Amino acid sequence: MTRVEMGIPTVRPGYPDLDGRPDTPFLVDRFGRVARDLRVSITEKCSLRCTYCMPEEGLPEIPRHELLTVDEIIRLVCLAVRELGVREVRFTGGEPLMRRDLEQIIAGCHAQVPHVPLAMTTNGVGLDRRVHALAAAGLHRVNVSLDTVDPIRFAQLTRRDRLESVLAGIRAARGAGLAPVKVNAVLMRPTLSGAPDLLRWCLDEGCELRFIEEMPLDADHEWARDNMVTAAELLDVLGARFDLTAVGRSDPSAPAEKWLVDGGPGTVGIIATVTRKFCDTCDRTRLTADGMLRSCLFSDQEFDVRRALRSGADDEELATIWRGAMWNKWAGHGIDTVGFVPPERTMGAIGG
Ligand code: SAM
Ligand code: SF4
Repeated sequence: MTRVEMGIPTVRPGYPDLDGRPDTPFLVDRFGRVARDLRVSITEKCSLRCTYCMPEEGLPEIPRHELLTVDEIIRLVCLAVRELGVREVRFTGGEPLMRRDLEQIIAGCHAQVPHVPLAMTTNGVGLDRRVHALAAAGLHRVNVSLDTVDPIRFAQLTRRDRLESVLAGIRAARGAGLAPVKVNAVLMRPTLSGAPDLLRWCLDEGCELRFIEEMPLDADHEWARDNMVTAAELLDVLGARFDLTAVGRSDPSAPAEKWLVDGGPGTVGIIATVTRKFCDTCDRTRLTADGMLRSCLFSDQEFDVRRALRSGADDEELATIWRGAMWNKWAGHGIDTVGFVPPERTMGAIGG
């Protein structure tokens, strides 16, 4: 299969259109939003093959020379913080733990912008062995993806038998002082009936569980609006076992709406990306593992900051490209509009 067939575009537009953009250093867009939250994908590789994300054979390998190096990632992260107003950085992938130099990336960013929280979204496989080094390097928070605590369903959904390693990773993260560990679960029909067990497990382990509506970003292109599990369906299933009290969002740009469980203090969150979209308050900006800037998961418009960086661009030039990329951000993902077409890159190739 070619890279395009596998969901990785090879043609990118050049420099962004800055027409009408106000003179501000921050990452503003035409709809009045300001991006403060940077997602940095550092690899396309993964130790699992979740059906809602990756194809069975994995994503095609990004050629080594196209992957951003440790120094390039650190330079771009620091630029985003110092010049563009980014206030939080999250490393993702693919699976960030697949990079052996992850500790160096974290340590380098932490040394230069120590006031900025550094977080990671991980599948948790093998996390127990590295979490202390990661915390020592400067990692502040982890979100671990876990869709079910049923080992058979876990193996079916991820196509790998690694549940024990993930659970050990979550516990080790707490032990390393990264609490509260947030757990992300994608809503899927085969695991819906197990959602209350997953919530019970997370409450018992002191983790904050958040369910995410599945988005049309799976490599197998099986997502269907009519068949996806909605937030409303989940609330019915959880409500049959727990007493849920709506408490809303912790801040206006937080994607998760929260409910107190059985009077608290435990909570459960739902990120209803499809049925209760929150594009109006989106504050994300994204950098892919191969050095492309993206303003939205769903837009194929990418800006090649790697090429600029390797051609000797100075910080001001890189900042201008980034500002332009965000100025051109779309109003919303458009999943519910007639003629919606999913982006070429799938979730694992963008970085969720
Ligand atoms: N491998 C890491 C992990 O699984 O946490 C980081 C990368 S993964 C792409 C980031 C997040 O995207 C995970 O929480 C995962 O569950 C979520 N995700 C992947 N595919 C998705 C989809 N089609 N819809 C919604 N969320 C998805
Ligand atoms: Fe890998 Fe994360 Fe995608 Fe699962 S969701 S296949 S763990 S990148």
